[in-house]
Amino acid sequence: MNSQTNKVKCGVTDCAYYNENYCTANEIKIGGENATTADATNCETFVNSGNMVNSCGCSAKGGETKICCQARECKHNEDSKCTLSGIDVSCTCASCDCSSHDQTFCSSFKL
Ligand code: SF4
Repeated sequence: MNSQTNKVKCGVTDCAYYNENYCTANEIKIGGENATTADATNCETFVNSGNMVNSCGCSAKGGETKICCQARECKHNEDSKCTLSGIDVSCTCASCDCSSHDQTFCSSFKL
């Protein structure tokens, strides 16, 4: 069964869509077509907050987010949609000062 929307818990504090541990974007895209590990995925929707902190005007924290996922090797991927009711997105940089979506990943990825 395909979930159309999912809660996205997120630790990427410098993303413009980040709000109190959750993603507020209405829709995100997870990349990593050939990923076989979580680290090889990424959240392509990441936007460095820079000078646009919380200006997205999108859904409230912990709202439902539609996920389009290209990580087809993940066991939770069905027709480019995530079947989980919630996922965790994180980043590889220690102090969370990501400059690129390459530093983000879906930690809920499973082979
Ligand atoms: S858990 Fe798997 S299918 Fe769901 S968003 Fe993450 S990588 Fe994509």
